[in-house]
This record gives sequence, structure tokens and C-alpha cells, in this order.
Amino acid sequence: MPEGHTIRRLADRHLELFGGQRVTAESPQGRFAAGAALISGTVLESTDAYGKHLLHRYSRDRTLHIHLGLYGKFTDGPDAAPPPVGEIRLRLITGDHWLDLRGPTACELLTPPEVKELIGRLGADPLRDDADPDAAYARIRRSAKPIGALLLDQAIVAGTGLIFVMETLFRAGLPPTMPGRSLSPEGWREIWSDLQVLMRAAVGVGRIDTVHAAHTPEAMGRPPRVDRHGGEVYVYRRAGQPCLVCDAPVRTAPLAGRNSYWCPTCQVL
Ligand SMILES: [Zn+2]
Repeated sequence: MPEGHTIRRLADRHLELFGGQRVTAESPQGRFAAGAALISGTVLESTDAYGKHLLHRYSRDRTLHIHLGLYGKFTDGPDAAPPPVGEIRLRLITGDHWLDLRGPTACELLTPPEVKELIGRLGADPLRDDADPDAAYARIRRSAKPIGALLLDQAIVAGTGLIFVMETLFRAGLPPTMPGRSLSPEGWREIWSDLQVLMRAAVGVGRIDTVHAAHTPEAMGRPPRVDRHGGEVYVYRRAGQPCLVCDAPVRTAPLAGRNSYWCPTCQVL
């Protein structure tokens, strides 16, 4: 599933492509035909990202909410849109550019109270200046659940996915199974500021790199990582491979319906 930096990049790109312009909206697949009809002819005024949720704000007070989920994907291109192929839920056209959305978990128009409700149930987003990390920590320190699961809970921290969470815990030297209530205020401050640093860097380059300068392929004289999830990382999807810091094999185990990854030597309490 795309992590928060991808949604932020999409929000920025959509504003760049369509901001201030009157759009034509269609639902070639038909499932969003009524919503598309309400957007069509309005002007895209702003875009925003809250965690993994993308919002388009159009004139006439229309807010489009999109959650890509596991399978959702945007494509876009210049000039006239090509003939529709596959299940296109939403197509936006201006004449200069087109944008297609396929396979989202959510593609819906929200009323202002519904937007407020959506934002209200999301946790602190490390990419947002209005985030409240103290509220997130208040929930973490009350919980006996593993810190790895708490940081993936979108009601506590929004926008984080498995890569950012596993990598931040490695960089903090904390095992993913540590109970939330064992996390010190200093530990939380370190994790929060590291999430901000890593996620902001990922917005800039469009991929997730988490290794320090001493552990890049160039610095270590090793080949770059090859993985369709991209990026130079310490533990994510590196089970059985040697830790870049201590050479111990990276471990994996189920955690909250996902797989956790950690170094048994570098991440101990
Ligand atoms: Zn290690």
C-alpha cells in the first residue's frame, strides 16, 4: 500500500496539473458516474493529504476523497485522454492533461462534516505541520500492544506504512515487539522526528531511503538493493540477509497481520 509520502506527492502533482482549472470529470467504468457529474465543470481549488487519504477541493464546496488501498493507482498524461482501458473509476480532463484513477478503496464526495469526521479519526501525520505528536504519544504510552503495531495504527500515526515503521525502529534501536507503554518520552521524540525526516525526504525523491551515509552502497562497496519496493533500507524485506551494521541475519515474524523485520543484535531493550 502506498505510504504517506506517495499521497503527498500525488496531492502536489494533481494541484500542479489541474489547480485553478475547470475540469471535466467522467467515470468510464460507471461506478462513480453520479459523483463525477457533480465535479464536472467545477474548478480544482486545492488538494491535501492526511495520512494515506487524498482530498481534492473543488468549487461549489465539493470535496473528493480518495483512498488508494492496496490496488488503487493513478496515471496521467498530456493532451487528449486515450480511449478508456480497464476499470477507470474516475477520469479528469482539462484539454491540456488527463488523469485516470483505477481500483481505489474509496472514491467519494464528502460533505464538510464528513471531511471533519475523516480528519478527526486520523492520528498525527509526520508530514503535516498541524500534527499533534503529543496526542499520539498519549495513546502509545497507555498501550501494552507492540510499538510496531501502534505506529502502523492510522488512528495513532497517519501516513506511516511498514517500511517507515520498521526502519525507524531499527534506527532507534528498538524492537518492534516492545510494548508501547515502555517507550520513554525521549524515545518517542526521537521516533517522531526521525519519521518527519525520513518521510519528508521520501516526498522529495519519491522513494524511501533510510540508511545513514556510512551504510550506502557506495560507502560499503556493496551492490545497490534490488527490490520492487525500492530504496536503501536496513531491515524491511531483508529477512535472512546480514544486518548492514552488525552482520547478524535480519529476522522476520508476523505482527498485527503484517510481517515485522528487525535485527536481533541492534534492536534490543
Ligand atoms: Zn544489526
